[in-house]
Amino acid sequence: TTKAKQFDLRDIVASYPDFPKPGILFRDINPVFRRNDALNYIIDEFYRAYGKAKVDAVAGIESRGFVLATALALKFGKGVVMIRKAGKLPGKTLKKSYDIEYGSAVMELQQNAISKGESVLIADDLIATGGTAVAAAQLVEEIGGKVAGFAFIIELSDLHGADRLRKMGYKVQSLVT
Ligand code: AMP
Repeated sequence: TTKAKQFDLRDIVASYPDFPKPGILFRDINPVFRRNDALNYIIDEFYRAYGKAKVDAVAGIESRGFVLATALALKFGKGVVMIRKAGKLPGKTLKKSYDIEYGSAVMELQQNAISKGESVLIADDLIATGGTAVAAAQLVEEIGGKVAGFAFIIELSDLHGADRLRKMGYKVQSLVT
């Protein structure tokens, strides 16, 4: 028998107004990562959503996505791929720039990270505008992989990033809206 869940993820996520800059309400998932019961709940939920799909690898978006991706990869019996901020990965890489609130940022993936035709589940802590997630999907696809879907702990629905991904045909699962 499964024990009843003793918490609501929504109550564990911490919120910090005006971080890292004025006007941003930062949703902090560190308190979630600190709890074993919450971590187990999260990976069980994503396994429920994607356990029957073809998932050959789990890609984490730097840096909070790495924690989620690793927990998921263990559950799925797969390995982890790192999608990093530019300049941190050695060897042949592919870069993709994307818009952030003020200006742009660049994400990078190693060319040998994914084999042709492999299905990759992409994980991050939170989706806001979806710019980061779209860049991650483009990197996976341009090196020959397929996107099995996206796993986010939090979806900021008023910024419509998850809707944008769904309209592009991607499967998106988030746990707190
Ligand atoms: P976006 O590309 O707009 O979807 O932004 C998503 C990325 O920025 C994720 O990697 C998040 O960790 C981070 N992020 C954006 N907005 C917030 C927020 N309000 N609280 C915490 N992280 C955020």
